Amino acid sequence: MQALALENNKELVDVIRKAALLNAVQHDGKAQTGPIVGKVLGERAELRPKAKELTALVNAVLDEVNSLPKEEQRRIVEQNWPETLKKEKIEEEKRLPPLPNASKYVQIVTRFSPNPDCVLHLGSARAIILSHEYARAYDGRFILRFEDTDPKVKRPSLVFYEKIREDLKWLGCQVDEEFIQSDRLPIYYEYAEKLLRGGNAYVCTCIPDEFRNKAIDSKPCPCRNLSPDEHLKRWKRMLNGNFAEGAAVVRVKTDLTHPNPAVRDWPALRIIDTVRCPHPRVGSKYRVWPLYNMAAGLDDHLLGITHIIRGKEHLTNGVRQEFMYKHLGWKYPEAIHYGRLKITGAFLSKSKIIQGVNEGTYSGFDDPRLATFAALRKRGITPEAIKKMIVDVGPKPADVTLSWETLYSYNRKLLDAKTARYFFVPEPSTLVVKGLPKVFCAKLPLHPDQPERGHRAYTVSAKHSDMSVSILIAMKDAESTEAGEMVRLMELFNVRIDGKAADGVSAHFVSEAYQDARDAKARLFQWILADDNLHCRVVMPDASVTVGVAESACKKLKPDNVVQFERFGFVRVDEAAPVLTAYYAHK
Ligand SMILES: [Zn+2]
Repeated sequence: MQALALENNKELVDVIRKAALLNAVQHDGKAQTGPIVGKVLGERAELRPKAKELTALVNAVLDEVNSLPKEEQRRIVEQNWPETLKKEKIEEEKRLPPLPNASKYVQIVTRFSPNPDCVLHLGSARAIILSHEYARAYDGRFILRFEDTDPKVKRPSLVFYEKIREDLKWLGCQVDEEFIQSDRLPIYYEYAEKLLRGGNAYVCTCIPDEFRNKAIDSKPCPCRNLSPDEHLKRWKRMLNGNFAEGAAVVRVKTDLTHPNPAVRDWPALRIIDTVRCPHPRVGSKYRVWPLYNMAAGLDDHLLGITHIIRGKEHLTNGVRQEFMYKHLGWKYPEAIHYGRLKITGAFLSKSKIIQGVNEGTYSGFDDPRLATFAALRKRGITPEAIKKMIVDVGPKPADVTLSWETLYSYNRKLLDAKTARYFFVPEPSTLVVKGLPKVFCAKLPLHPDQPERGHRAYTVSAKHSDMSVSILIAMKDAESTEAGEMVRLMELFNVRIDGKAADGVSAHFVSEAYQDARDAKARLFQWILADDNLHCRVVMPDASVTVGVAESACKKLKPDNVVQFERFGFVRVDEAAPVLTAYYAHK
């Protein structure tokens, strides 16, 4: 009786009991059969043929564990495996810290405000995800605001408005309301006039260098103390096109003795020759354009933003804008400044990305070498992994350096349990196995921990008079074999290598039992039938292509499926036919 044999294995019963108690503590006192069977089979592949008996044994242990009071289950776990409870607690604590003064506001409103001059990449992840997560956590609103008021240097492009919307959608960040600054120029003009009329801003016609020299000496330029009437006249001339580009600029009055010269009377609106540089949305309709601090500063108040979550490189902008808020009698929103997030090896220069795409160095904005969301999406990096990584880092002001590997480990954790596994043989080489004693049916589980997901089955039978069969294995595996060595073809049988042949390796059948391979410490090779497979290309993160064959069950895969090629890595299917084309995520 095999069931009896398992029952008598005290060590196995102890393993099941521990898994059952941990599972019970996590599930309100009632442990579940499936995960425990899966866990045991994952660790002890040799029990797979006895899955039925194992399930019976697990159920017997569960009857006992589930009959214990919850307190008693927890006490046993605490006593024997206290480290498991600590881990559970740390997981729970990784939430975002509370927002400052949240209770002072009826509704929390946050914003993400990109310039649509490129697609989004990992460098924006922190601003987007923190702003969105806080809005959700407080049942608030999340605003998307396109900051497209520089038609000359940081020129927006129509295609990027849509791509940014797509990126946010993919990230799972639901936008409650959208604004586009190029629609709002009359509003900025209205406040410019108000500031000019109140003597809190002025139209400066000085040569920039002359203004700068005066400001460094804390001295006013000749324009500053002219009457508001004069400045309103100059303002009309700015709007009417009587000044050339660069000949006049509206400055907001600050403090000429401010310790930071960059804060002194900062420029708020300037002239851009939009006949030469038309704006992609409003063409040449406007000549006077607000600069960053004017547009962003006004909008944060006018759109009711309660909490601005941004990088600490914006600290000085906050100081600048507070002067304008004071002139207008407004209260500045709460501002949270987080530190720089550096991702080693991630290429984040927008101008170089655009240049590379335009010149054809990159295949597009989703080229696997880039850290754009489009590229990550193509490779099977999940938005959940990005989100979790960013939330774990949180909004702290210290600089943080992460690596690709950090992101991969978040992604692996999420994918491991939900992706099916298949065999992929890169650069295949033939292995001829002689002396097959019978027809074999290999049953390969789609996931070793989840027998309920089913399996792939392949019939392996001799095709020639010498009872041989041709099988494909990776060239790397084939080249590393030595005559006399025993290797196991995973979930199939054990063979002994006879030697190298013209187009690969020849071997003969030894035995079927996994235990034999274990005893001989045989290496495990994945394999694919030579007469039943699928050609496959895998685009690697460096844009190189690994060519190989995938097992024929992969014919069922569809674009966007993410699977694990065993011993190779996680990949996302991009095209299913005629050749399976996949993008590599990571190991
Ligand atoms: Zn001046």
